[in-house]
Formats: sequence, structure tokens, C-alpha cells
Amino acid sequence: MTNRSSGSGVALITGANKGIGFEISRQLAKRGITVVIGARDEKRGAEAAARLRDEELDAHHVRLDVTDASTIEPLPRFFEERFGRLDILVNNAGVLLDEGTPLSDLDIGVLRQTFETNFFGVFAVSKALLPLIRRSEAGRIVNVSSQLGSLADIGDPGSDYAGFISFAYSSSKVALNALTALFAKELRGSNVKVNSADPGWVQTDMGTAAAPLTPEEGADTPVWLATLPANGPSGGFFSSRQPMAW
Ligand code: NAP
Repeated sequence: MTNRSSGSGVALITGANKGIGFEISRQLAKRGITVVIGARDEKRGAEAAARLRDEELDAHHVRLDVTDASTIEPLPRFFEERFGRLDILVNNAGVLLDEGTPLSDLDIGVLRQTFETNFFGVFAVSKALLPLIRRSEAGRIVNVSSQLGSLADIGDPGSDYAGFISFAYSSSKVALNALTALFAKELRGSNVKVNSADPGWVQTDMGTAAAPLTPEEGADTPVWLATLPANGPSGGFFSSRQPMAW
């Protein structure tokens, strides 16, 4: 029986060998959830899971490149055979390939590559695992998005990010937010909640050391959404646990 508040269940976190995904894994495991670290590099995934086990947490790993169908296809069977269930999916894997690149210089290949990971990868992994998550009494899907994917923020000349240029990344996160809203719409009335999380600007390889938030702080909203109670929201976009404009 799955009861999020008592901290049981099994979670897959994509791109979890480092950064925010690793911290989400740690915080979920600290709540008593069995975590599976998805990593495109098998060795880095195994090392990350071992680090959590050193903290006496229940952590495992699976090779998962969200742009590679051959690593997605075995996932349902992996969870079925190893754990008999999957309750939480955190779509965290993401790439930022075009920071500072004006539209006039943006290669369409970079745009496609960005969407492969940040959008199509999320769709493919979610679609593959949805039948298993639907069987959970409290299924939760969290898509790690960004303030840069808020159309309201993009249109705001006073935004903190008004000077930040990243057409491919921002548009992929706008599309990801649409995916959140549409999956949630289709799952309305079911036990599965789907939400987008903005982690804030976080000190990771992507966020750089200049960011104000630690990975621990950045993981907070995704973890909160992954462990929502039955009366929690679905189909929303949240930052610091508060609703954010799409
Ligand atoms: P990060 O330190 O660069 O980590 C990104 C993770 O995604 C790595 O584990 C990376 O694996 C993995 N990844 C990339 N492509 C993948 C693929 N095709 N398949 C599987 N895994 C893949 O970045 P982060 O800051 O932790 O970012 C995590 C999420 O938060 C991303 O979705 C990002 O857009 C979002 N976000 C970050 C910030 C920020 O300030 N840091 C702000 C807003 C949103 P490798 O180690 O193999 O490269």
C-alpha cells in the first residue's frame, strides 16, 4: 500500500547522478522512499547510488539516457521485477546548450538536441512508465522546469532574467510546462498528480557557483511535489512551494 505521508514507495529520478537530481534523490530517500537514480553513464549512476547507501539510504541505479529509446524500453520491466511498483517519477534530466546565443546564431540542431532531452525525453519516459504509476495509490510525476520556461516571465521586462538569452532552453521548458498541464488534464480524477517545479537558480554545473541557492534548497519544491498528499494540487507550476505563472 502506498502512503506518501508515511514515506513508503519507489521513485525514479532522471539525471540524478549529480546536481539537483542527486539532492532530490537524497531527500526522498531520507523520507523512507526507495530511490532509483537514473543516469546515462552507468558508472556515475552506480557511484551516486553508493554515496546514498553510505548514508544508510535505500538507493539503486539504472542506466537511462532519456534520448535513447533502448534505455527507456526496459524500464517498466525493471521496476516490475525489482520492486513490483513505481510511485514517483521526477523528470529532472535537462540540458542548457545555448546560454547567451542570440537567435541569429542559434543552430537548429542545438534547438532539436535541447528538445530531445528537455521535452521528448520527458514524454517518452513518462509514457513508458505511466501504466505502472497509474497502479500506485498515490502516483506523482514532477517535471523539473524553470522560471525561464514561464511565458509570463519571458514577457516581463522587469524580470530578473530579462537579460538572459536561451531560446532553445526556454522554449523547451515552455513546452515541458504544456506537457505537465496536458498530462494532468488527461489524468484528472485518477490517483496520479502531475506538476512542474522551478527549483530556483541553483549551484550546480548548470547553474554555476554564482547561483544563490544550494542543491538542497533547489530540491525542496520538487520533493514537496513528489510527496504531495491526496488533496494536493495537480496540473500546476510551482516555485518555493508557491504557484508560479505559466
Ligand atoms: P546538472 O548539474 O547539469 O545536471 C543535469 C543532469 O541531467 C546530469 O545528471 C546529466 O547527466 C543529466 N542528463 C543530461 N542529459 C541527459 C540525458 N539525455 N539522459 C539522462 N540524463 C541526462 O544540472 P542541474 O542544475 O542539476 O539541473 C537539473 C534540472 O534542473 C534540469 O532540468 C534543469 O533544467 C533544471 N533547472 C536548473 C536550474 C539551476 O539553476 N541549476 C534552474 C532551473 C531549472 P550527466 O552527468 O551524464 O551529464
